Amino acid sequence: MKVPALDRLLERLAEVSDLSRAGMLLFWDQRVMMPPGGSEARAESVATIGRLAQERFVTAEIEQLLEELRSLEESSDYDSFEASLIRVTRHDFEKASRVPPELVGELRRASALALSAWGPAKEASNFEALRPFLEKNLALRQRYVECFDPAEETYDVLLDDYEPNMKTAEVREIFIELKDALVPLIKEVEDAGEIDDSFLTGEFDPARQRDFGLEIARRFGYTDEEWRLDQTPHPFMSSPGAGDIRLTSNIRTNDLSSLFATMHEFGHGVYEWGVDRALARTPLGSGVSLGLHESQSRTWENLVGRSRSFWRFFYPRLQQVFPAQLGSVDEEDFYRAVNRVHPSLIRIDADEVTYNLHIILRFELEQELIDDRLALEDLPAAWNARMEEYLGIDVPDDARGVLQDMHWAGGNLGYFPTYALGNVISVQIWERAKQDLGDLDERFEQGEFGELRDWLTEHLYRMGRKFTPQETIERVTGSRIDAKLYVRYLREKLAPQPA
Ligand code: ZN
Repeated sequence: MKVPALDRLLERLAEVSDLSRAGMLLFWDQRVMMPPGGSEARAESVATIGRLAQERFVTAEIEQLLEELRSLEESSDYDSFEASLIRVTRHDFEKASRVPPELVGELRRASALALSAWGPAKEASNFEALRPFLEKNLALRQRYVECFDPAEETYDVLLDDYEPNMKTAEVREIFIELKDALVPLIKEVEDAGEIDDSFLTGEFDPARQRDFGLEIARRFGYTDEEWRLDQTPHPFMSSPGAGDIRLTSNIRTNDLSSLFATMHEFGHGVYEWGVDRALARTPLGSGVSLGLHESQSRTWENLVGRSRSFWRFFYPRLQQVFPAQLGSVDEEDFYRAVNRVHPSLIRIDADEVTYNLHIILRFELEQELIDDRLALEDLPAAWNARMEEYLGIDVPDDARGVLQDMHWAGGNLGYFPTYALGNVISVQIWERAKQDLGDLDERFEQGEFGELRDWLTEHLYRMGRKFTPQETIERVTGSRIDAKLYVRYLREKLAPQPA
């Protein structure tokens, strides 16, 4: 069936997608390749391209086309490409049309400038150097919130950008359940005695780490044809187009954390990689929400990459690469060391359990900032007090405290909760995959991960943004988001092992 209005809409949307993917490429370049001197000029380019994408999208023509296509949407199957495209585009359009392009450009510019200031401020552990940029970001976010109808909670508006349709109250409920379960669990594990992980710190040649990370990624499905891996201080994944998946990892010479960072970013990459190519250059052509995205990075990093069966295959290889450091460490001791639960300062280095408390702390502080219940000048002290309260940790300086993450500099308030939601969702999907696939451990021990990747592609990745995050989770797992399975998984994993 030929529908001219649909073809015209697809043409327009492809242009918008091209512009925003070009923006992603500018961002990737800024973080990976650009010399620092380019930051001001780059802020202008990023702002311009963000504004252009917005102007191309919020047009009378697209509004008119969406109107003309109402009957096609109603007569098409809910799951069809046509109905999904029109439904999702209308939702995006209604949201985007509330925000003036001038504000979009300002948000982008402020974020690019603040990101450039964040690195040096963190290096010097100087919060005051970043504070004016954060003030600007926060003021712009408050203007952004005012573009929408008043929500039950201000934070709902911010959260909706990263986890569409999710309400702050729902997140709070899940987080309370997590906090209640995890705080005593952490205590139990600490009381059970120290696990020796001293062999994980030492000299690890960066080139060998990179090669080993790549070897793992290739086993998972990375190919030189469609992927690349670069170095950044703060790892992320970017996909500037279909068939172009860019991972970054942070290789440090004194530990092996880059291996887990690479697996983490692989999980983000494989989600984008697995989206049905027929959805490319449309609003449907990417992962559906950050929570679902993070569920996949955590799947590949933790559920796969910290499992016994994974290391049964990879550990002898790792010992060969680092014989001096690991030659005399047995597999079980290595497995326990990479799964050690221990409160620590840095979120991205945190273990599977304490990680969630890092998120809950940020979730609470963000709400207080956006509601003006906490002034930015008091943020470092509030941060430090809560680290002490939740994790029993003394923060020695702002570099290892409030300045450690780039998100607030990037203007991304409302983003953090999606990390812990991702943990919760990852186990729900994992349990469902195991029902279909049976014993994955046997295959992991052979270094085979293709069946898991294919199952996830077929049941989750392919869908892209056709459905809401909630619909997507329900289609994959048959149930709503729920912390129970995740808490049970952690309890079982951390239960004392028979000697
Ligand atoms: Zn991630």
